[in-house]
Amino acid sequence: MSALANLQSGRTLLHAKVRARCIACRTESASDVMLCPRCAKMNELYCGGCMRSVLRSTDASEEVCAHCLQVATSVGSSMCAQILKVMGTPAAAAKEIASLRTRFASLAAQFSLPERVIAFVPPVAPDWTRVAASKRVMQRSRFDEVMVSHAQVRREVESATRSTVNFETRIENACSAADAAREVLTAWDGLLVDVRDQGRLEETLVAYSDSIRSAKALLERLKERDLSRALDLDAARTAAMSAYKIAQK
Ligand SMILES: [Zn+2]
Ligand SMILES: [Zn+2]
Repeated sequence: MSALANLQSGRTLLHAKVRARCIACRTESASDVMLCPRCAKMNELYCGGCMRSVLRSTDASEEVCAHCLQVATSVGSSMCAQILKVMGTPAAAAKEIASLRTRFASLAAQFSLPERVIAFVPPVAPDWTRVAASKRVMQRSRFDEVMVSHAQVRREVESATRSTVNFETRIENACSAADAAREVLTAWDGLLVDVRDQGRLEETLVAYSDSIRSAKALLERLKERDLSRALDLDAARTAAMSAYKIAQK
């Protein structure tokens, strides 16, 4: 999703087509020149695309060819309908992305491994020769329990996290890509002048729906993550640890 559509503004493209020519000698000028530089007669505006004349408006930036504007609007309308069908209204799309982010935040809290489960550091075995002989057997057996318990928790945590590596990043990436696509599609003025823009719009629309789909799929996978076993094992590990500490005293 690196290069999202770089759309041109249809109105700007139409505006660029407007030129001026002398009503008498047909000398061409830039569209903002009012009088012919050759014979000083009035210049008229015309469209470089369809050659129809264009009415001079009070705001020069609004001077576009009415005919080409109509064509651009009707060509763009099927794309508009497609966008509306896939993305919904701009407000609905923004709401959908926001709700994906909210759902992720709540699921992440619900289905994430507590820090203590991940951050467990196994105790270092003491120098058994320095442990009083009377206590050695008991301490050793408790220590072994801690080590076994630790290995189990680690295995369980690894398998629980393996399928969901970098989840936060991946879901955020999907949401940002959807949001970037939404912005492009929302900013588009609905006028299709340049045929390449249609391809760019279609790509952006695909990027939008792919990103939404992928964010949803990631959320479903997060929900399927079963942490109950890891949490049970963690409880067993804590018990083994305190049994070992008691034996040490
Ligand atoms: Zn002239
Ligand atoms: Zn035109």
